[in-house]
Amino acid sequence: MRSHDDNVGVYEEAGAPIASRTTPRQRTPPTCPRRRRSSTLSTYDISKQDDTVPRTFHTHFPPDHSPSIVYPISSQGSCNAVVTPLVLFIDNEWVDAESGKTFETVSPIDGKVITRVAEGDKYLVSQDRPGKHSDFEIGRGSKIGVEIRARIRTDNDIGIGIQSGTRINIGLKTGTWIGIEGVTETDMERRTEVGIENRADIDTVTDREADIEKAVAAARRAFHRKSEWRQLTASARGRLLHRFADLIERDAEYLSTLETTDNGMLYAMSRLMMQGIAGTVRYAAGLADKVHGDTIPSDFEGFTYTLRQPVGVCGLILPWNGPMSMFVSKVATALAAGCTMVVKPAEQTPLTALALAALLAEAGVPRGVVNVVNGYGPTAGAALTHHPHVAKVSFTGSLEVGKIIQQAAGASNLKRVTLELGGKSPLVICDDADLNVAVPYAAEGVFAHQGQVCVAASRLFVQSKIYDEFVKRAVEYAKNRKVGNPFTEGNQNGPQVDEEMMNKVLGYIEKGKAEGAKLLTGGQRIGTTGYYLEPTVFADVTDNMTIAKEEIFGPVQSILKFETLDEVIDRANDTNYGLAAGIFTTNVQTALQFSNLVEAGIVWVNNYFTFEPRIPFGGFKDSGLGRENGLEGIQQYLETKTVNIAVPKLT
Ligand code: NDP
Repeated sequence: MRSHDDNVGVYEEAGAPIASRTTPRQRTPPTCPRRRRSSTLSTYDISKQDDTVPRTFHTHFPPDHSPSIVYPISSQGSCNAVVTPLVLFIDNEWVDAESGKTFETVSPIDGKVITRVAEGDKYLVSQDRPGKHSDFEIGRGSKIGVEIRARIRTDNDIGIGIQSGTRINIGLKTGTWIGIEGVTETDMERRTEVGIENRADIDTVTDREADIEKAVAAARRAFHRKSEWRQLTASARGRLLHRFADLIERDAEYLSTLETTDNGMLYAMSRLMMQGIAGTVRYAAGLADKVHGDTIPSDFEGFTYTLRQPVGVCGLILPWNGPMSMFVSKVATALAAGCTMVVKPAEQTPLTALALAALLAEAGVPRGVVNVVNGYGPTAGAALTHHPHVAKVSFTGSLEVGKIIQQAAGASNLKRVTLELGGKSPLVICDDADLNVAVPYAAEGVFAHQGQVCVAASRLFVQSKIYDEFVKRAVEYAKNRKVGNPFTEGNQNGPQVDEEMMNKVLGYIEKGKAEGAKLLTGGQRIGTTGYYLEPTVFADVTDNMTIAKEEIFGPVQSILKFETLDEVIDRANDTNYGLAAGIFTTNVQTALQFSNLVEAGIVWVNNYFTFEPRIPFGGFKDSGLGRENGLEGIQQYLETKTVNIAVPKLT
């Protein structure tokens, strides 16, 4: 991640134990007003700035690691608030990462560092933990092996071309150790006997002795049949979740400010989403005591019934595009089912998961039930997906990583896996649609949250008779869209989450132009501070263009023309994805025919983006496995057990 040290304002908490810091103190003076601690440790007054609204936030990080974040609701953008490193949350305690390292999290609003976060699970076997690998046996006759993620080539360049992030095992028949130390990437390029990238983020199975190991162990203790958590009744679990929802509502302003600062989501949207988030928790709370099995008529002399029991320790891997809603939908459902868990947030948005975990502890969720380990996917995430004591993984993110996770689950202990992997969702506008409704819906479908939405309407099929008029109106709509600071009222788009994602979107725009799509508006970055993009409209897009095939995850509307329903159904389905689809038509028959035949987990007719906690959500084809939310969602955290009791007939 980019460093913005020169811009970093340091905030010093009076009385904070400086000696316990894990990163060097910053040099630059504070640029934000000091946080004043109120009489309770968990409440902070935010001083008034000229351009800010005074407000009180409740926060629940430990005092010496608290995020002294001053997040003004300001037309000037976020403040350079900075902090002592934020620590991991394991076994209801705030602990430093074993690695002793932190990483920076940057606000997309202005690209400035807002805090440093403890980085779980990062070891260099050759440096930090010499000898720790030797307890791992692999390979015929070998004593030593190491699980390593690296790119490897042999002399003949045959063997192994392994994508970064994939784990492989290396074992030598001779029992000797493959040198990791001293083999550089350059050596590898020269095709030395066996070259292994010697990068700082190479990690090994010994990770399991570090933070993920601690967190999984805590979750495992909490799942023990005699633990406080397992002794709770289902309705008591429901009450805890209701308390959690109350606390979310109490801290809604703080949480949504944190989300906007960390993620770039419009403040109006994150504030509105708080209602949905609390609603999701309350829905899960209501489900907790409605998990029950069946009685099954038996042909034998017996009584047969099923029990639905929690699957065990869950690994919940979150994306950055909806950090709080993803946390809540996965965690609350897993809690309702009675599971325990380790959460790994995305490295771009690590803050709200810590704040929510603290609220869960405040609500009374017992020790070890919910643990949060921030860190990177190929290290902390992979340690979780490979862990033999994790029974289930729920993941939302890219298809590429989804496949890695499913492989890891299979290679370790056949974990249950739920995957939500995005899409290339078709939205069809028929000739008979009301354009006053369809044009704004289609635009919001792809521009909302800067297009960083898994169900984005990123293939917009418009029927030929209305095509020209629709395109004209779509361009006008996009041109009028206000882009800017997500805290400023009236703005409709904020920044992309980070520089990398912004550049990825710009790359797709270039591809669209190069492949012959007609760029009618947008296509550029706005300014040089923060990661803002112009809402972009391409017309005359064809099915074979990259922008019609790959997930862009940005504010790019791609308009394609079609003639008949039959044709558009085939074209809509001609993708490896199958998450969502939509249609605008006034003909009920057309709507039903399309809904029946389109390959998608959710279909919207004359609307788009309607979500509720009651609605099962997930994808066909490469868009995922399993469903989240609704009654189906909780089933993914349960095992079914059948019990048969012999009951001889009374004759
Ligand atoms: P990723 O799939 O890489 O990230 C999602 C989560 O998975 C993050 O927490 C990430 O950690 C973690 N992760 C990454 N590698 C591994 C691994 N080997 N094992 C376990 N966990 C891992 O998505 P990106 O952030 O890179 O975004 C890339 C694209 O993915 C986007 O442009 C978009 O197309 C799509 N995407 C789809 C989402 C959806 O809602 N379906 C959400 C987010 C992205 P970390 O990043 O911290 O290293």
